[in-house]
Amino acid sequence: MNKKNEHYNQQAEIIRLAKKIAKEQIAPQASEADQKGIFPREAIRAIGEVELSALVLSEKEGGLGEGRVLFASVVQELAKACASTALIFTSHVVLAKAIEVAGNDSLKKKWLPDLSKCKSLGAVAVHEPDAGSNAGAISTQAIKDGDLYIVNGSKFFVTSGGEASAYLTLVRTDPEKGPNGMSTLLVEKDTPGLSFGQAEKKMGLRSTSSREMFFKDCRIPAENLIGDEGGGLQVIGKSLIGWGFYGASAISTGIAKAALDKATKHARERTIAGQPIGIHQGVQFLLSDMILGSETAEVYLNSCASKADAVPSTAALNGFKAKLYASEMAIEVINKAIQVMGGHGYCQDHIVERLFRDARGLTLHFKTSEWLKQDIAKAALKI
Ligand SMILES: Cc1cc2nc3c(=O)[nH]c(=O)nc-3n(C[C@H](O)[C@H](O)[C@H](O)COP(=O)(O)OP(=O)(O)OC[C@H]3O[C@@H](n4cnc5c(N)ncnc54)[C@H](O)[C@@H]3O)c2cc1C
Repeated sequence: MNKKNEHYNQQAEIIRLAKKIAKEQIAPQASEADQKGIFPREAIRAIGEVELSALVLSEKEGGLGEGRVLFASVVQELAKACASTALIFTSHVVLAKAIEVAGNDSLKKKWLPDLSKCKSLGAVAVHEPDAGSNAGAISTQAIKDGDLYIVNGSKFFVTSGGEASAYLTLVRTDPEKGPNGMSTLLVEKDTPGLSFGQAEKKMGLRSTSSREMFFKDCRIPAENLIGDEGGGLQVIGKSLIGWGFYGASAISTGIAKAALDKATKHARERTIAGQPIGIHQGVQFLLSDMILGSETAEVYLNSCASKADAVPSTAALNGFKAKLYASEMAIEVINKAIQVMGGHGYCQDHIVERLFRDARGLTLHFKTSEWLKQDIAKAALKI
């Protein structure tokens, strides 16, 4: 067997593994976790046992050095079972990537082995109540004091807030320098002065523990600086945008595919006057739109991800395009799934109701669809 085939087989095996964990260990708890807002610790433990997070870390850091295409395939499998778990996993991988690409040796040594096994959980704290999608408008301040940064401010909507052990935190280290005055710090959960708000009562993605974070004179060791002082946006570009957006896109394609599976099964099994509803042209039209929608979103995501893997400097723009298309398409697909399933699709007993609520959050997460459209158009206009 040549090397290329060997690699292909290894990738196929990883996707099979993700599928198996998703089906056997994540899906059974997903509905109850959604309804009760329970953080899916067991699901994260199962992912950690097979070290799925290490997939995208370099071989030097004990990973497999895989790219965004395989990462997206794995996240898609997790999302088919539970979008909340897939989002928690994506945020976790973003912190691991930030440490890998920009962290110093002591951060790598301290965090990467445990992050690989999900013994420590990572999260991302970028957005703030007064900054919204515009990360450039953040005001959480970190003032250098000898070997420490003293951090004051707040973040909001942090996925895995209060559950994760470490947070990739965007702070302002020099208010005079605008975008070049921002830096990223690793903030540990148990830092004195750090506290968390109540979990937000969200429409969907209800198991993700989205919380506000409050920093009051938090003393963060200067060695927890990830990347250079003033280079925070570059670190965010190489981790959150460079990888997290592909995870977010894959959550949307995973949700769309799960909805398609459910609706197709329903159209075959639901009989009215002795005939399955799938024989009707109206239902077939809906299913056919769903098939094309979910397949084009997946193919487009793979195309964007492989371009980004080949030329990493294109990762941001390709990630914006993939996320915009996949997140908006997922809503259309799931909306049609509900239509195929009639009143059943509108009830909690059938998971498309949850999928619809989960999908809605992905058009807001990190950059809203409107921001993405503006960024994509501005890149074309070169403005
Ligand atoms: C499920 C979920 C998980 C999240 N997880 C995290 C996380 O882990 N970490 C984290 O830091 N954040 C997280 N967030 C926060 C998320 O990044 C923000 O919600 C998002 O950036 C939008 O900000 P906002 O909610 O303040 O909306 P706003 O920024 O207030 O936007 C409201 C509306 O105004 C529009 N708008 C605002 N400014 C402009 C502009 N300049 N031009 C055009 N339109 C504009 C927007 O497009 C939108 O339609 C999460 C959000 C969600 C929904």
